[in-house]
This record gives sequence, structure tokens and C-alpha cells, in this order.
Amino acid sequence: VTAGAKSYRFDFLIGADGMQSLVRRKVVGRIGKRDTTLTVGYWVDRDFEDEVAIAFVRGISGYIWIFPRNDHLSVGIGARAGETTGRRLYEFLDDFLRRHYPGLLSGKRTRYGALIPSLTPKGFSSNRVCGESWALLGDAAGWADPVTGEGIHYAFCSAELFARAFTSGNVTDYEKLCGRQIVPELRHGASYSRTFYDPAVSARLVTLAREKKSIQTLLAKLLAGEQGYGTLKKELLKTFPSVTRDLLFRIFR
Ligand SMILES: Cc1cc2nc3c(=O)[nH]c(=O)nc-3n(C[C@H](O)[C@H](O)[C@H](O)COP(=O)(O)OP(=O)(O)OC[C@H]3O[C@@H](n4cnc5c(N)ncnc54)[C@H](O)[C@@H]3O)c2cc1C
Repeated sequence: VTAGAKSYRFDFLIGADGMQSLVRRKVVGRIGKRDTTLTVGYWVDRDFEDEVAIAFVRGISGYIWIFPRNDHLSVGIGARAGETTGRRLYEFLDDFLRRHYPGLLSGKRTRYGALIPSLTPKGFSSNRVCGESWALLGDAAGWADPVTGEGIHYAFCSAELFARAFTSGNVTDYEKLCGRQIVPELRHGASYSRTFYDPAVSARLVTLAREKKSIQTLLAKLLAGEQGYGTLKKELLKTFPSVTRDLLFRIFR
């Protein structure tokens, strides 16, 4: 590794350097555009009620969010890269804020833009995350939920799996462990991601969640990572009244 005027040699290189990973670019190449989600938004210097707001936007596979953080709000919108432009995303977001939370547009705010990995089923098939002397963790490996964009859980999970493989002396087992413990769940998510954001599906989900506590609980568990995608269909069938079977078929077609 050469940094500035100095060069160093290492036995093993771990890339835990995020979505734009320099290590990934050197060892396997960057994550392709079609396997990423583009996000833009604002950090708003303001308190908000202790609540989370989420809204769906017709025509994009993503959502608007308002998440309270310790000393500011994270307000943003994400969509699969290539579906639309950053400028259009800001238009969707500003329009939503103007209509529902106008106060958030008048206060002090800082713009941000970032990418999140959201691998497609094809992206998972060609993804490589380790070799004899290197490994990629977290976003650098592509480990984020393709539906919600959440990656913190998978970053920690991949670090744990890597540590297990490294200390056992079989580093390349890391790829196998990820294949068993991370990839199946994310692949399921990838296969649902478009239909989940189909306006006919999201509108029905919102209406049903408003009316039924059991569906609220199931969606909350899904967002909190307590309900996996692999068993989602079974749980929905248990929870949903038979009248909503058509919705299930839309999601899992
Ligand atoms: C707007 C937005 C909102 C999100 N919201 C959520 C959420 O609510 N919940 C959730 O679970 N996930 C969320 N995510 C995804 C989550 O942030 C990532 O999946 C997670 O942070 C990945 O962790 P990581 O350690 O792999 O990478 P990162 O958190 O990106 O950490 C990589 C680190 O490497 C450093 N680095 C990069 N390049 C170099 C270099 N050349 N030299 C030295 N250091 C370097 C960076 O500075 C950074 O500190 C969100 C992402 C975005 C963009």
C-alpha cells in the first residue's frame, strides 16, 4: 500500500471502507451502477417529534424518510440508481416537505448525497468478497438490504463472520459463511424490491397497516430487521385476511 511518499507491506488487506471502497476497486472493481441506490437529502438542524415518517413516491423503487437523530433530523429520499436523477429526487422530497412539513424547509439545513449498495439478483451472482489475502466487509462487500437500504446490521454481521473465518485459519470460508448467513436474506429482498414499491402494493400496505394492528406489527418488525424476507410470505399469509391475497400475489409473483 502506497500512501503519500510511504509504502507499506501487509499480509492481509481488509476493505471496510464503505460503498465507494478504494480496496474493492483495487481487488474486484467497484459496485456497478445498477446495483446501487442513490440517496439525497438534508440534515435539518431541528428537533422533531419522537417519530419516524416514511412516504412512498410513485415511479421510484425507494422512499422518503424523516428520521430523528440525537441533535438533528435526517430527511432524505432514495431510489435505485438509473431510475431518476438526484435533481428529480430533490424535487420529490421538497414537494413532499412543502405539503406536509413546510417548517423543515425554512430552517438551517445541510444537503447530502450518497450511494448505498442494493445488489440485484444478478449482482449477487457475480459478487466476490474475499481472496487468499483480502476481504471486503459491510458496504464495500455490497451487504445492504436492497429494499430498505439498511446496512448497519450486515456490516456488523460480516465483520463477525470474517473474524470467525480468519481465526479458524480458513479465511476463504468468509465467502461461504456470507453465502449462508447474509446472501439468502438479501437475495430474497432483491427479488421483492420492485414489487414492494409498486404503488398498488405500497398504497394497500399503508391502508392495511392503518387498519390492522397485526399488519403494523409485522411491518415494524420487517423494518427493524426482526422479520426476514425468507419467511415473509408465510407470515403475511398468516397475518393477512384472505381478501388481501391478490396483494400477496403482486409482491411474490
Ligand atoms: C443517507 C443514508 C441513510 C442510511 N440510513 C441507514 C439506516 O437508517 N439504517 C441502516 O442500517 N443503514 C443505513 N444506511 C446504510 C449504512 O449507512 C451503511 O450500510 C453502513 O454504514 C455500512 O457500514 P460500513 O462500515 O461498511 O461503511 P461506512 O459506514 O461507509 O464506513 C466506511 C468508513 O471508511 C472510511 N473510508 C473510506 N475510504 C477511506 C480511505 N481511502 N481511507 C481511510 N478511510 C476510508 C469512511 O470515512 C468511513 O468512516 C444509510 C446510508 C445512507 C447513505
